[in-house]
Amino acid sequence: MQSLALYGGEPTRKVRLGYGHQYIDEADIQAVVDTLKSDFLTCGPKVEKLEQKLCALTGAPYCTAVSNGTAALHVACLAAGIGPGDEAITTPITFAASANAILYCGGTPVFADIDPETYEIDPASVEAHITGRTKAVIAVDFTGAPCDYEALRSICKKHHLLLIVDAAHSIGTRYQGTPVGSIADLTTFSFHPVKTITAGEGGAVMSRDPNLARRVLMFARHGITRDPDLLQEQGNSNWYYEQQMLGYNYRMTDIQCALALSQLDKIDYFTARRRELVQRYDDVLAELPEVHIQKEYEGADTVRHLYILRLDLDRLSCGRREFYDAMQAENIGVNVHYIPVYWFPYYQSLGYRKGLCPNAEAYYESSMTLPLFYGMTDQDQEDVICAVKKVLEYYRK
Ligand SMILES: *Cc1c(COP(=O)(O)O)cnc(C)c1O
Repeated sequence: MQSLALYGGEPTRKVRLGYGHQYIDEADIQAVVDTLKSDFLTCGPKVEKLEQKLCALTGAPYCTAVSNGTAALHVACLAAGIGPGDEAITTPITFAASANAILYCGGTPVFADIDPETYEIDPASVEAHITGRTKAVIAVDFTGAPCDYEALRSICKKHHLLLIVDAAHSIGTRYQGTPVGSIADLTTFSFHPVKTITAGEGGAVMSRDPNLARRVLMFARHGITRDPDLLQEQGNSNWYYEQQMLGYNYRMTDIQCALALSQLDKIDYFTARRRELVQRYDDVLAELPEVHIQKEYEGADTVRHLYILRLDLDRLSCGRREFYDAMQAENIGVNVHYIPVYWFPYYQSLGYRKGLCPNAEAYYESSMTLPLFYGMTDQDQEDVICAVKKVLEYYRK
């Protein structure tokens, strides 16, 4: 047996491999430079171009580009009418922003448990948490795999709730043939550098309904409109506009939109490579009895953002902590997605207690994220696989 780098052995790699990294080429750089030399750094033509391109990609009729994925969630929740006294149901296995957006609006996040095999929000648990105050469900396409849209849509329809999907991970994914972005009432994207497409910072809200889309746009633009059809005072001249509600400055700049547009030109390469890497991980890791790979719902055609390795702790003499440390010592940048949101001190201070969602907590205690990004080479991936096998062999019972 090879000795682990954690205990003084040779590491699998000399140079550390990160878990995710953006891919920027000359065309991206040129697109940004061209915009810097143009008349518009913000509020210019690139914004509308990006919105149109995202509509074309997803099939959604409406898109509003915003400053980041968190702002997208905030305005989606505002557009959905979430306010003080309202509840919205979400998953604890997500980035905190999915739940924070509910709090921004004065609403109360209610955490439904996850499915133990897909790690997605469990529709049965969602339904069990619906009360007279529930306004919306905020699901997440966790890792890029689609949530159970069919079940969630029918629950939302039955109880007159809006379905918001945080699709920060899932641009390019399809569910039963339909692209993410045009399935839920509102869908939010993020263009943070670790995501499939980056703008440095950026985000978007996709909607299917013109009224929701109008509210999203207003909340993201100070609550101000110039649209003659919407103005309450008519017959005024060109300079006239109205603030009709309290909104925010959540604009995405033309500089960021130029980068996002150039990145979107490469989405086919990006997604093809991600699929290839995921297939290789699946083929190798499915053979190992000490680990589980993520299951997906029928009809999922996934562009994976995160690759999760779930440990079968009963078959190992270590916990996730030791496994993680051992992988790091091998110079493999593993990560953990996510700490259950309600475990954070802030949520604890609001009265949430550990134990709320047993599947989510068991998932958290046994899971780890392996490197997955476009620029990863085949050799990088073989190093990851080699390190996983080495560490498993060491801790196998
Ligand atoms: C990245 C991410 C966000 C936040 O997006 P930002 O653009 O960083 O604000 C929200 N939800 C999930 C699931 C994410 O992964």
